[in-house]
Amino acid sequence: GQECRVTASVGICMFPQDAQDEQTLMKNADTAMYRAKAQGKNNVQFYSAEVDLLSLERMALESSLRQALLRGEFSLHYQAKLDLKTGAISGVEALLRWEHPELGTVLPLQFMPLAEETGLIVPIGKWVLKTACNQNVAWQRQGLPPVVVSVNISARQFTEELSGEVAVALQASGMDPHLLELELNEATVMANVARTVPLLGALKRIGVRIAIDDFGTGYSSLAQINRLPIDTLKVDRSVIREIDGNTRDGSIAQTIIAMGKTLSLTVVASGVETPEQQAYLSQQACDEIQGYHFSRPVLPDALAALLRQHVPLPSR
Ligand code: C2E
Ligand code: MG
Repeated sequence: GQECRVTASVGICMFPQDAQDEQTLMKNADTAMYRAKAQGKNNVQFYSAEVDLLSLERMALESSLRQALLRGEFSLHYQAKLDLKTGAISGVEALLRWEHPELGTVLPLQFMPLAEETGLIVPIGKWVLKTACNQNVAWQRQGLPPVVVSVNISARQFTEELSGEVAVALQASGMDPHLLELELNEATVMANVARTVPLLGALKRIGVRIAIDDFGTGYSSLAQINRLPIDTLKVDRSVIREIDGNTRDGSIAQTIIAMGKTLSLTVVASGVETPEQQAYLSQQACDEIQGYHFSRPVLPDALAALLRQHVPLPSR
């Protein structure tokens, strides 16, 4: 009874110019199809020698991504969120960084699609959860006040196994479940609401908080959101970018904030880059902001220093 949209990614390889035997034709068509997927899916790509080169790079990237966990090349940076009412740090978001031996720092946008496609996101995601929980406990051991840590969860991780993995990370670290928040994209959560509800229910029973990330990029309705056991709405950067000091430009942000309030959710504006945006959001009674204006993602020690300057309230 659910409407389902199916899209196709097509790779085309021509005989005889691209390949002469069946095996090579199929291989090259496959390469072109992966290129179509990498270009955002739902499109057509012809095979070319250039495509082949990109695919070689992809294979090299894939094999080094496989090694990265074993070699300890991942780290987490933390970006603080500011409570607009109290001026305290209300929480931090863990953001994954990959220190590649030759390429230097690689950002998630460059490797996350590949990690998702290959399933490598599953072991990487476990490592992120474990590391973020351990860090949270370590900050408290340093005498810092408890702070909520948010961890991004990709679509591929959002399965029946997730609640077990979360429970293990919490138990092994001794972290208070109320201090952990999981961020799920609007698209991940809305892809199949009937499946989402029990998955979120299992996570809520552990005691963790749930945030909808990138909110405002999809088409979720108030009624759909209201069915979900969530705590936080993170308004997408693209919505915040529209705010440029002219009050009328922030009307979508204003509407989302009002909607979040109606549902008693904590509303976080992400990608806040200017004092004008902060002032506007403050005026609209947005709860929290995150963005380069307040702080970039930083290493754990730098975050500890920031926490000392902006003492958070006891956890909600
Ligand atoms: P996200 O969850 O929306 O995270 C926010 C992204 O926006 C981060 O990019 C952050 O550095 C960036 N950002 C923060 N403030 C500003 C700002 O004021 N202006 C601009 N232009 N950008 C800002 P980053 O770290 O490159 O991460 C990108 C995405 O990769 C994240 O988007 C998240 O979806 C994903 N990601 C990051 N870490 C993890 C992880 O550990 N697991 C999973 N599954 N996904 C992750
Ligand atoms: Mg996020």
